[in-house]
Amino acid sequence: MTSLVLSGAHVLTLNPRRDEHPAGYVAVDGTRITEVAAGPVPERLAGARQVDASGCLVTPGLVNTHHHLYQWATRGWAFDATLFDWLVELYPVWARIDEPIVRASATAALAWLARSGCTTSMDHHYVFPRHGGDVLGATIEAAAEVGLRFHPTRGSMDLGESSGGLPPDHIVEDIDTIMEATQAAIGRFHDPSPGSMLRIGVAPCSPFSVTRELLTESAKLARDSGVRLHTHLAETDDEDEYCAEHFGCTPAEYLDSLGWLASDVWLAHGVHFGDAAIARLAASATGVAHCPYSNARLGAGICRTRALLDAGVPVGLGVDGAASNEASSLLAEVTAATQFARAAGGPQAMTVRQAVELGTLGGARLLGREAEIGSLEPGKLADIALWRLDGVPHAGIADPVAALVLGPQPPLELLLVNGRVVVEHDRVVTVDERQVADAARRASLVLAGRD
Ligand code: ZN
Repeated sequence: MTSLVLSGAHVLTLNPRRDEHPAGYVAVDGTRITEVAAGPVPERLAGARQVDASGCLVTPGLVNTHHHLYQWATRGWAFDATLFDWLVELYPVWARIDEPIVRASATAALAWLARSGCTTSMDHHYVFPRHGGDVLGATIEAAAEVGLRFHPTRGSMDLGESSGGLPPDHIVEDIDTIMEATQAAIGRFHDPSPGSMLRIGVAPCSPFSVTRELLTESAKLARDSGVRLHTHLAETDDEDEYCAEHFGCTPAEYLDSLGWLASDVWLAHGVHFGDAAIARLAASATGVAHCPYSNARLGAGICRTRALLDAGVPVGLGVDGAASNEASSLLAEVTAATQFARAAGGPQAMTVRQAVELGTLGGARLLGREAEIGSLEPGKLADIALWRLDGVPHAGIADPVAALVLGPQPPLELLLVNGRVVVEHDRVVTVDERQVADAARRASLVLAGRD
């Protein structure tokens, strides 16, 4: 029984043959895709809800592999600073977050991600003020309300300033508290079943904010629990210097020495990986979440995506936290991945289709979901984006994928997540966007101490 059919669109399947149908249709039954084909809709599907998608491009929903949703309330701070200076200015502000602030921030961030074509997002939450309430639970409620497939990680920091770390002592936790809370989060929320809308990961923050013991214990807990493992790595020159000084090696060598590099791990940024690190990532099938706009905003550099892909490293895209990427549009990251790769490596360094693939299948692989999402194929989950390309901004660009990637962000005609309509006619329909904006504004005023 088919419930919905999108017809008359250019269909970018990203199936194993990379088929495209210039005038095709996609049929959905409940939460799954049932048919993807060229040509008009067959008579036998006439009873389903029909969506005339002519003038549109259908793609798999985008997959966001790195974010800090709580940062939506702290956008526009330290906007001319490096990563370390930006962190030092923001840590004391983030120390004041609590459950209502995180709920408001996460709802706004997820609603905007949906508007940019994202159907699955991870979150890396690593700030847990002692009296802040259930901030991880608040992000999970927000994702359920907006309706995105969600892979939150229980992040952590245990290396305060007095022990040689970057964050102030009052916003780090002790390792026992972290391990107990992480185990509890997995037990309470993680859903490993097929089609899952919610999977937990484990994510100590970075080499300069967590101890060696926490990295080791976190990897053990994740592997004992069958969940994935994530951290920031090789983001800036400052981090390289920190690792050389404190550990006598590169960030990648440090993680490797702790048994981290493996196919259940993905690393945010990876801007400063050398050839040896890239070979080691490829051999271990460790993934990289490429966050081009955040890296540019903080002047961190440009990730060597061409070298990573040539070596066979799994690569996905991430918007990163909204405090280091005020735009926070996942489609914009697809564009940036294309343009930055070419700016650094020449016109052949990234095709527009490769960039869409990083933002869909690539991300799905980092989250361990490539069998279920990331392409339009019968049997896969109905996570689908429908982009309108017949308006002024794109009219006249013959290739619809080039129009999507190189043109401005098009209106999002429809976004389905697990078969449910989340965006229609470029508006989020699961939440009231006006109320979400008001709540986010109030949250940022509270954090700025101006309420
Ligand atoms: Zn980050």
